[in-house]
Formats: sequence, C-alpha cells, structure tokens
Amino acid sequence: MKFSKERFMEKLNELEGEGISKFWKPSTGKNVARILPYPYDLAKWDGYLFPELYMHFGLPGGSIVCLEKVYGEECPICQYVDTLADDARNDGEIWKVMKRIESKVQPMVPVLLKENDGKNKVDATGASIVKIWRMNKTCHKDCYNKAANEMEEYDEVLFLDVNKGVDVVVVVEEPKGGKKWGDTSITFRSKQSKLAESKEEIKAIMAKIPNVNELYTKKSKDDLVKVLNKYLQTGEEEVQTGSSRHLDAPFDEEDAAVKADVHTDLDDKLNDILGIS
Ligand SMILES: [Zn+2]
Repeated sequence: MKFSKERFMEKLNELEGEGISKFWKPSTGKNVARILPYPYDLAKWDGYLFPELYMHFGLPGGSIVCLEKVYGEECPICQYVDTLADDARNDGEIWKVMKRIESKVQPMVPVLLKENDGKNKVDATGASIVKIWRMNKTCHKDCYNKAANEMEEYDEVLFLDVNKGVDVVVVVEEPKGGKKWGDTSITFRSKQSKLAESKEEIKAIMAKIPNVNELYTKKSKDDLVKVLNKYLQTGEEEVQTGSSRHLDAPFDEEDAAVKADVHTDLDDKLNDILGIS
C-alpha cells in the first residue's frame, strides 16, 4: 500500500471534515472560524451578509436546489407543495409533509478555519483553509443582529472586514433527544485581526472562496419529478418514523415544522435600522 504523507494528511483532513469537501461541518465542541465577505455577484447580494440558496431538504438523494426560487424555472417539488396547501390547513400530517419538503433558505457562509488561538488552520501544503458553512437559522440570525448593531454604532459591518474583523467561536452541542445534529451556536470574539499578515496572503485566502453557484449540480425538471415520485412511493413511512431524513441538511430537525423564513424578519430589522420602510 502506498502511504505518502501528503495523501495521508489529505485523508486525515477529510475525516475531520476539513479536506476535499467544499463544505465545513463544525465538530462537536468548540470551533473557531472567521466569516469572510463573499466576493462574487455583489449587486445580487447587496444587503446580504452572505449568499443564500433556496433548497429542498428531506427528499431522497439529499439537498436539492429549488429550480423556481434559484433559477426562476418550474420546480416540480414547489408545484407539489402548492397542491398540498389546501389540505394542509385541515390535516396535521399533510402540513408536516408540506413543511418538511417546501423550499427553505440556506445561508452559504464562506469561512476561514482557525485554531483556538486564532491562528489560521493550514492544510498539508501549508495553505489556509476556506470552506462554505451551511449555517443554521439561529447562527444566521445572530450574524444579522451583530451586523445590525455594528451598523447602528459604526455605520459599517465590521466583523466581516478582512483587516479589522473578528473571529467567531462556533459551539456544537452533543445531539440530544434522537436528533442527528446537536444545537450549534456562535459568539463573536472581540479582538480585531487581519485575515493574514500580507495583502498577497489575504488575496490568496479570498480567492479560495467558492462561487455558490458552483456548489451544487443543477438538477433537471425530470430529475426532480423522479425524486418526488421516489419520495411519494417510499416517503410516508419515513415521515412517520422520522428516520434517515435530512442527511446533509444542517437545519435543525424541527425546522421542517417551523415557518421557515427568517429572512423577512431580518430584512425588516435591518430596514428599520437603516431607516428604510
Ligand atoms: Zn422548488
């Protein structure tokens, strides 16, 4: 068997969830990261702290980008959800299914991974590690609250700044009560820092941020019809037993049963602060 150090380190990083995958999954316990300003499609994401994708969770084959909300095309899953709306008012089970599979906002947050002491984590080649963190709703809201406070006080969002931003401590609890994920919460550190010593290094870090449009393969309408059919043929039992759903969904399990549009509230809050009605 071949055993090169570089490949071994890659494998190790992979096992730690920090390797080849573009996504970051914080480990149970304490993690440190720095949220990076998203550098693409600036006009589209004006007013957002980070980009978002509308996704369908809880379906066979993992998370699916919504064709309607993301690409402006017909989405068979959204169409199916629409057909449930009337019945869902009078039937709790149908309501649960509807809430589970309807499209939800998924923040896609670029992060620079850090050690506990605030130093940048590095891969086997000595380079800083940048990933996309599919942040949950609580953390999402905390970021917007932090930004709102900074806007009020300093007229700018400081924590994302590449030269004077702050690190976040991400704490993941042990999963409880049969949930697949433990609760995840964030706190912002107070010490400001640069992403790296030199401008070149900062540029190199920013250049590693993936474009969110390239994170998922766009599925065709036919693909989504197939997924939906598979779900309808096999899904009901899974819904009742609450088994292996949400395999790669970072949302809390109860999200499926909660009206999922944190975004509107937050927009309102920001608008209040900015004096826009
Ligand atoms: Zn959809």
